Amino acid sequence: MDFRITEEQELMVQAIEEAMTRENLEPYFQDCDKNHTHPEKWWEILKELGCFSMFLPEEAEGEDGEPGGGEGAVTMFLVMEALGRCGAPIYLFWDHVKADALLENGTKEQIDKFMPLFFKGNGAFAQGFSEPTAGTELSSNTILTTYTRRNGKVYINGHKHFISGAQDNDYCLTLAKNSENPEQLTLWFVPTNVPGCKKEPMEKMGLNMENVNDIWFDDVEIEESDMFSFEGNGLMATSKGFDYERLIDAFNAYGQALCAYEDACRYANQRIVKGQEIGRLQLIQNHIMEMTMKIEAMRNMLLHYAWNKDNNCLTRAEASIAKQFCSESANDIADHALQVMGGIGYCGSRVSRIYRDLRITRISGGTGEIQTVIASRQVLKKYK
Ligand SMILES: Cc1cc2nc3c(=O)[nH]c(=O)nc-3n(C[C@H](O)[C@H](O)[C@H](O)COP(=O)(O)OP(=O)(O)OC[C@H]3O[C@@H](n4cnc5c(N)ncnc54)[C@H](O)[C@@H]3O)c2cc1C
Repeated sequence: MDFRITEEQELMVQAIEEAMTRENLEPYFQDCDKNHTHPEKWWEILKELGCFSMFLPEEAEGEDGEPGGGEGAVTMFLVMEALGRCGAPIYLFWDHVKADALLENGTKEQIDKFMPLFFKGNGAFAQGFSEPTAGTELSSNTILTTYTRRNGKVYINGHKHFISGAQDNDYCLTLAKNSENPEQLTLWFVPTNVPGCKKEPMEKMGLNMENVNDIWFDDVEIEESDMFSFEGNGLMATSKGFDYERLIDAFNAYGQALCAYEDACRYANQRIVKGQEIGRLQLIQNHIMEMTMKIEAMRNMLLHYAWNKDNNCLTRAEASIAKQFCSESANDIADHALQVMGGIGYCGSRVSRIYRDLRITRISGGTGEIQTVIASRQVLKKYK
């Protein structure tokens, strides 16, 4: 295992650092956070840097026939690290993960329709699994959204809950059960800007640059050709990508925590109390040490697992361990960083934004409890 980064990766990181320093986006991020708007200016920079196409599979094609960059998890980690440490809302940067499942299970028409949008960084489709009755448990008992065939068409009825990015997407890949055979759970591309569909943003404690929505479907008409994968395969059609998604969730947690950590360390060197920098106080050093150990452990774990992913040997347990360890550690780091910065940490610093934005990492993409169940089962199996 060799963690030295390649020349191309080094150049990529340098380009990101230069662009982020040149643009000095922190005041802009603060505005977007305050006004709950998507950071378009930052999005344009990501596009210029090639960040949207870079992680798409090589077989993917953009509008002009441009192939995906095929970059792997180690590069993804480095990009998330470089962006995260500048305070960028990297929690927005994960849409490309959906491209693998689209290539694997989509029809030619679906691939041609949605893939070019990934290249542009435009939302291609939201993913609608959760409902008020269905979160961790997605099954025919908890999913109440239905599809019904009538006169050669398909009709969707139901209520999806917590759906990320639905305001910016014209479609939602929606899990629904067959009204005539409720055991069959199937995914459908359902348009969301049509009569019969209502979407409303939900209140939330952070992630202000993202929208998370309720969506109601009232007899929304679609075609048989809007089915994704095959009938009854709704829970499996996107499941191959779950492990990588969890790893990316962990990169996201680490990248944001790194920013909070570095801000707190700089502050500890500058803030004077009773004639000396607070960084000289042992109780503050305790916070610094707690954060440093976690940053080091996360970085080493993530590079190791990213290397495994790129070499096709990332296990399900490792993905869950990474998500659980990094989401907990990142939340702890944000808490320590805020404490080191005292009142200014709480009022108006970007550490307070990061503190709010990190909390979700212990819930979405599979809760911490579920990561624990998945990983510990695998671990115990080894010792049977
Ligand atoms: C900001 C945000 C964005 C989201 N984006 C999307 C999206 O784009 N698309 C989408 O479909 N969903 C999305 N979700 C939903 C997310 O996936 C769910 O919130 C998550 O899966 C947990 O489900 P739940 O909230 O219903 O909690 P529940 O499943 O009700 O769980 C409640 C508690 O019980 C625990 N628990 C449940 N089962 C077990 C068990 N077997 N063992 C131990 N503990 C258990 C959980 O860990 C949790 O602590 C989003 C959620 C949020 C908050």
